[in-house]
Amino acid sequence: MATGNINVSVENIFPLIKKFLYSDHEIFLRELISNATDATLKMKHLTTIGETDVAYGDPKIEVKIDKENKTLHVIDQGIGMTKEEVEKYINEVAFSGAEEFLEKYKDSAKDSGIIGHFGLGFYSAFMVANKVEIITKSYKDEPAAHWVCEGTTQFTLEEADKKERGTEIILHINEDDKEFLEENRIRELLVKYNKFMPIPIKFGTKEEELELPEDAPEDAKPETKTVDNIINNPNPAWTKQPTELEDKDYKDFYRELYPMQFEDPLFHIHLNVDYPFNLTGILYFPKMSQDMNIQRDKIQLYQNQVFVTDNVEGIVPEFLTMLRGVIDSPDIPLNVSRSYLQADGAVKKISSYITRKVADKLKSLFNNNREDFEKKWNDIKIVIEYGMLSEEKFFEKADKFALYPTVDDKYFTYDELQEKIKENQTDKDGNLVILYASNQDQQHSYIESAKEKGYEVLLLDSPIVSHLLQKLETSKENISFVRVDSDHVDNLIKKDEDKISKLSDEEKEKLKADFAKVVPEKYTVQLEAMDSNAAPLIITQPEFMRRMKEMQQTGGGGM
Ligand code: ADP
Ligand code: MG
Repeated sequence: MATGNINVSVENIFPLIKKFLYSDHEIFLRELISNATDATLKMKHLTTIGETDVAYGDPKIEVKIDKENKTLHVIDQGIGMTKEEVEKYINEVAFSGAEEFLEKYKDSAKDSGIIGHFGLGFYSAFMVANKVEIITKSYKDEPAAHWVCEGTTQFTLEEADKKERGTEIILHINEDDKEFLEENRIRELLVKYNKFMPIPIKFGTKEEELELPEDAPEDAKPETKTVDNIINNPNPAWTKQPTELEDKDYKDFYRELYPMQFEDPLFHIHLNVDYPFNLTGILYFPKMSQDMNIQRDKIQLYQNQVFVTDNVEGIVPEFLTMLRGVIDSPDIPLNVSRSYLQADGAVKKISSYITRKVADKLKSLFNNNREDFEKKWNDIKIVIEYGMLSEEKFFEKADKFALYPTVDDKYFTYDELQEKIKENQTDKDGNLVILYASNQDQQHSYIESAKEKGYEVLLLDSPIVSHLLQKLETSKENISFVRVDSDHVDNLIKKDEDKISKLSDEEKEKLKADFAKVVPEKYTVQLEAMDSNAAPLIITQPEFMRRMKEMQQTGGGGM
């Protein structure tokens, strides 16, 4: 038997990294800015713990396009690298200086927000550049270094005369990737990935109007001055403590996330946990329309303030993907497939934490301001009802605050409803019969006749209601839902002798036969008037047939 080591040489891996490491070429910029951010945060950390007396100052990151030389520059004022460090961190592919730093400063650095992980991000530069240069000067008192590599395993490394601390990465952009020399394209990427990163990012300059002096004439034009154009908000709301924020701050942040959205959200949920996993974020309940075509890509996922994706499938329970907002967690493994994600222990915990927080928030809204909760019910019910159908844990919680509105605009919880109708609305077997209407206009006469009898009629008109009723019937004992126009109402409504048809049996049969010719087969024709206000003749449809049909239309429990 022979044993040996498989020889993995960088020559083999390099082209693979370039081609396949990231499916999206555009993420190179996110990676370089993440490294620049890490370098700056490391500097901050070292000055905070007193490991150096170098002043941290007010550092920023700059992104610059040089069209003439076809280069893109990312410049930071971070920790920098000595020549030896370039050898160690850059030349060793898949060695992460970020991980090493976190390892070294363990506890004190745990909340430093450092992004890097795998030691591969830097090489994504070669997806868009045929030549990459690093000019870097460490905070340590050592000469600067200049590293040049043309996308092979060859590189040059020599001293340079950069005086200021920090690193400049220069990408010589490929002919094929010229788009990354366009100002608009770069701005678009910065806004997409870096809008909430923790260090200010400068991209060009802008004119800012100076304030006019008090005594300025009315038609005076304010003077302008040129200032840095900072593209990000380094302190987004979700990174703050809920106690620091007012309702207005949450609304302002919503605008920042969705500049094109003019309607205020109904309410928000601030997520904030650091054990057993780390997660922050803010979720918003927008006004939800009745139909099923709700946009589901509105929650943005971040890791340490770096945008990752707006597809949170597998991380957030499906019914909550109708919400909006941000989730930031360094603990979500994103280098695995979505189907694997759902099986991941940490992700499962995250998902159930989010579900619980949403349920708790709804519960407290319900408890603290019932009236307001009732007002919002129509705009939020689709999420809650769908959640009750799809997540058992959520069902248990929501069962206490889910509302069942009546045709008279009263709102009952399930328990309240049961209490209200238990005397009056049972069938001959003693089961509770809950009457409901799905369309107040079309079912008007049925509703009226039920109300005459003193019955409560719910108005349940959401698209998934037949699934929800099924769910309730199986989770609660001895109840059944019956639509006001269905045949089962008969079981409940005791007939008033006076109003029984005076027709003879023969006449009835004949009338029925006549109607049968014009009424489709699935309906039942009843001749007895149920009360004085209702029509003398009523056409009903079996409850189960109608429900079957509705369920087919809305799919088997899903949306
Ligand atoms: P990671 O960020 O996952 O550690 P990268 O491939 O992105 O891996 O970077 C490798 C290492 O190179 C970093 O960990 C860091 O030590 C060093 N590095 C990269 N960019 C910079 C920079 N702008 N300033 C200082 N060090 C850097
Ligand atoms: Mg990195």
